[in-house]
Amino acid sequence: MKEILAWREINLSFLLDNLKVIKEKVGGKVDVIAVVKADAYGHGAKVISLFLQKYANINTFAVAHIDEGIFLRKIGVNKKILVLSPQLKSSIPYYFEYELTPVISDIEFLDELGKYSNNKDKKLKVHLIFDTGMGREGFLPSESEEILKLLRRYPNLILEGISSHLSNPENKKDPYNIFQKKLFYDIYNQFKDEDLVFHFSNTGGIFNFPEFHFNAVRPGISLYGYGDKLLKPVMEIKARITLVKELPEGWGVGYGHTFMTEKSTKIAIVPLGYADGYRRDLSNKGRVIVNGEYCKIIGRVSMDQFTIDITDKEVKRGDLVTVMGRENEKMVDAQELAILSNTIPYEILTGFGSAKRLKSIYKFQGKVLNDPITELNL
Ligand SMILES: *Cc1c(COP(=O)(O)O)cnc(C)c1O
Repeated sequence: MKEILAWREINLSFLLDNLKVIKEKVGGKVDVIAVVKADAYGHGAKVISLFLQKYANINTFAVAHIDEGIFLRKIGVNKKILVLSPQLKSSIPYYFEYELTPVISDIEFLDELGKYSNNKDKKLKVHLIFDTGMGREGFLPSESEEILKLLRRYPNLILEGISSHLSNPENKKDPYNIFQKKLFYDIYNQFKDEDLVFHFSNTGGIFNFPEFHFNAVRPGISLYGYGDKLLKPVMEIKARITLVKELPEGWGVGYGHTFMTEKSTKIAIVPLGYADGYRRDLSNKGRVIVNGEYCKIIGRVSMDQFTIDITDKEVKRGDLVTVMGRENEKMVDAQELAILSNTIPYEILTGFGSAKRLKSIYKFQGKVLNDPITELNL
């Protein structure tokens, strides 16, 4: 059988472990809204969402855009789905048709939704988001009076939740977090007599600010293994060595000869490149694990492959390369790749996730699933 050259490995057991860590952090009374936008941060929204629905009792999912919500409905997600980001007016009928919950950011959209709901005599549960200092989507706190007035005019819109989003919760020491919480508390106090879902925290808020949990939280990256030491990265990137060779001293390696051999050097080719989400910034900086040892990247990362130094190492064609992941006590994670390429783990994960050439292999309880949907009865 022809082997795969490079692939993502998605460990569903770790996803459950991470969810357990999050639940322990927030306590049993706080609802966990699973954020599965951007194809579940590159892990595959179909399998991840159906898996969480069946194996983790998740009651609410969140996506960024309405098409992602429609997709989840079409594949069989029957729980609540929040559409977090502002959308175009033409999306309005689809919220009703697919029972998606808008997280409304502005008066105009609220008004348009309300008119539609009255004209069609259709009910819709809605959430509001307030801009307490994110400076992106959301009503300004001063708009709450006007919102309440509009909601009275549109009885088919049923207010179910109030939310806000933090700007810098990864930084525990930034006093801006406390400022945002204060503004959110003011809003909370205006609405708290109603039985609503109040959600304020993403991963940073969940792990750094226990007093920010309210009665629901919206973890994204922590589900996938980043944001706390107890979490386990769900995605690994693997490949097989496709070429091993010896270069003489004084030989340039790769485009632009950014690396010159200083002695006779054994190299190997790893068959994935920036087209697969392995960033070009990692040229001459990144490392991989082969046969239990770290090997450094030399030369530029190109579109389809990159080169590693395997001098004095036992490496042959076909050997397994851990490009991102763990081999015993050695590890390369998205955090390391992010630091080396001047970005954040989110961009690394979604970068690998959008690579069409990489196949996804799902694992659960140590077993590789050839067809996770059927085998797990999702
Ligand atoms: C993406 C997103 C989240 C999840 O954030 P993480 O940092 O990945 O936990 C939560 N809320 C909103 C509004 C988001 O856009």
